[in-house]
Amino acid sequence: MLSFEEALAKVREKLSLAGQTPPDETVSLSSVLGRFLAEDVFADRDCPPFHRAIRDGYAVRSSDVLGAPTELTRRGEVRAGEHYSETVGAGECVEIMTGAPLPAGADAVVMLEHVHVDGSRVEVSRAVAHWENVVLQGSEARAGSIVLHCGRRLGAGEIGLLASVGHDPVRVFRHPEVAILPTGDEVVSPGRKPEWFQIRNSNAQTLAAQVAAAGGRPRLMPIAPDEKESLRSLVREGLESDLLLLSGGVSMGKYDFAKQVLSELGAEFFFQGVAIRPGKPLVFGRVGEKFFFGLPGNPVSTYVTFEFFVRPVVAMLSGGEFVPPVFLRARLGKPIRQKHGLTAFLPARVEMRDGEPVVDLVGWQGSGDLVGVAAANCFLVIHPAQTELDAGDWVDVLPRPA
Ligand code: AMP
Ligand code: MG
Repeated sequence: MLSFEEALAKVREKLSLAGQTPPDETVSLSSVLGRFLAEDVFADRDCPPFHRAIRDGYAVRSSDVLGAPTELTRRGEVRAGEHYSETVGAGECVEIMTGAPLPAGADAVVMLEHVHVDGSRVEVSRAVAHWENVVLQGSEARAGSIVLHCGRRLGAGEIGLLASVGHDPVRVFRHPEVAILPTGDEVVSPGRKPEWFQIRNSNAQTLAAQVAAAGGRPRLMPIAPDEKESLRSLVREGLESDLLLLSGGVSMGKYDFAKQVLSELGAEFFFQGVAIRPGKPLVFGRVGEKFFFGLPGNPVSTYVTFEFFVRPVVAMLSGGEFVPPVFLRARLGKPIRQKHGLTAFLPARVEMRDGEPVVDLVGWQGSGDLVGVAAANCFLVIHPAQTELDAGDWVDVLPRPA
């Protein structure tokens, strides 16, 4: 059975080999949050477009104030949104506001806190270095240089950058459609009152939220019964989407038909099972051009396997890069022992204590326990070799997205 790292590498390899570029569309900047850029974006002018004051104060020639305290003559003022048309000469200064262009002749700004003004006499109490309190024209980006590369996911920071270079509308990749196919005779729609022996279909909602957050468009399919014919026709339909996610039916049970049905449809399996807990029965493969995952049905297994394996695939099918999960570190609160040789992802809470992040497991009843997941704010990741972890040890943590 593949280890967690091997399975992740396999997913990356198969997706990279497929190298499909999704179709793109042009949309308004106001609706690109979470989309992936389908073009390189260039600075339309220097950033910043002029030598910009970053403090309120006085624009000076730094050589004039080397021997501060010293006195200069105030020649005028320049506000943000205006410009000063003359040149600052020796012994002169111009009052300047944050965001205004530095007048010609000046090469630094003395902060307001370091001057004493009396009419046109400005007493400077401190020297300033050449270009102090100024951001030079073009120092962030030169006109014509690339500020965002094709494939970048657009968050708040990127959207601000696009606005600052006047890039609207924006060419982005289309959302891949991700089919979500729940399976199980006991599983019923959450809108219906279940019989006492039935289970509400929570996985479809969890997965739909995860797909949307990862940059895909969820397509909710009907619940497939544990019966081959119906499952086959739903799997076939699901394979019309860009990616198919099956939930449940991939274990060893008598009525777990997912793998058999996929196999009859000509599936190539890249792995069937990964050394992780929860999520060990995870299946990954392809039918023709289309990739699929068989996610174990236990709600926490479904959740975890999506976060670690499916999320990067949705990003790649959206035109982004494969970004493996990034673990952060925290100190373990209470000791843990484990001997199963699997990589474990356990619902946990991380909090700051005495200036350090400290993580502890939340009480949970195993991989069906969504109540435990809801109480958690991260997953504690325990690697197979970590059989004895003591309080205070540094451990890996994957923050749980909201
Ligand atoms: P399976 O992977 O089909 O063996 O299912 C494992 C466990 O997950 C069982 O207890 C199922 O009832 C439960 N389960 C399967 N599918 C869902 C679903 N869509 N929503 C909530 N629980 C599910
Ligand atoms: Mg089942």
